[in-house]
Amino acid sequence: MSKLLIVGTVAFDAIETPFGKTDKILGGAATYIGLSASNFDVESAVVSVVGEDFPKEYLDLLEKNNVNIEGLEVVKGGKTFFWSGKYHNDLNTRDTLDTQLNVLADFKPVVPDSHKDSEFVMLGNLHPLVQLSVLDQVKNPKLVVLDTMNFWMDNTLEDLMKVIARVDVITINDEEARQLSGEYSLVKAARKIEEMGPKYVVIKKGEHGALLFHKDQVFFAPALPLEEVFDPTGAGDTFAGGFIGYLARTGNISFENMKSAIIYGSNLASFCVEKFGTERMQTLTGDEVNKRLDEFRKLTQFETQLD
Ligand code: AMP
Repeated sequence: MSKLLIVGTVAFDAIETPFGKTDKILGGAATYIGLSASNFDVESAVVSVVGEDFPKEYLDLLEKNNVNIEGLEVVKGGKTFFWSGKYHNDLNTRDTLDTQLNVLADFKPVVPDSHKDSEFVMLGNLHPLVQLSVLDQVKNPKLVVLDTMNFWMDNTLEDLMKVIARVDVITINDEEARQLSGEYSLVKAARKIEEMGPKYVVIKKGEHGALLFHKDQVFFAPALPLEEVFDPTGAGDTFAGGFIGYLARTGNISFENMKSAIIYGSNLASFCVEKFGTERMQTLTGDEVNKRLDEFRKLTQFETQLD
């Protein structure tokens, strides 16, 4: 069984969408990635930090979903990372209302000995220096995937560029790809980002699907048109967890296999948005996942005939 190491925030989120508002609920990039990757038969472990205010039931939830939490530090007397956001009516865009780094501000990640040999490493969204430190602690991984966001581009670009130079795949949304590359065309943006280091560039376009670039090859996966979109928080992380979970499960990191990984990522993300926070991912079954994969197939398959 492949080992998957996940670094990212484990957080409290407060979310507002046109359909409602939550108080502090379970969130964080690593949380969503871990829950998503738990749909594959892989040995996942998370490296992150929380405060003493973090409920035990949330830790239990991660463990119940086969996410090893040996590398999840609990800081005595500390406060957990907090993020709050409000979505616009189109649900594609949001404003960050508050980001409180709290225990994340002084976090020195320690990769557990049992996971230093992880073949797959998912550098989820958090401070690039933490991502770099994790990279320095793992031994020769087969594939490193990076997810990041505009917050780090705005505040820690120099450090972020050092991480980008050392990863195989970057997943990024369209707006961030434009910000990072200075190019409006996503084709040009992907090319420029490849020059920064990653051999593969995945550009996420929310409800408009995702693109995979590698040299002169491109693949596009749609997002499933959904009747109900309740809360898009965590969709990008769930996508990344599904993408790397599938690659870790199959052990094949070819461009062809990455196409399937993108479909799996999109499939899992389509569930994430159906309820607030991590709620939907907690009840998701293998049958539901497979049924929706069929819908993905039907959505994109067609035959042409001219006679
Ligand atoms: P997504 O909707 O996929 O972008 O992910 C949302 C998750 O990212 C939330 O659960 C937040 O806790 C987390 N998050 C928000 N801002 C940051 C940040 N600056 N660094 C790391 N994680 C963040």
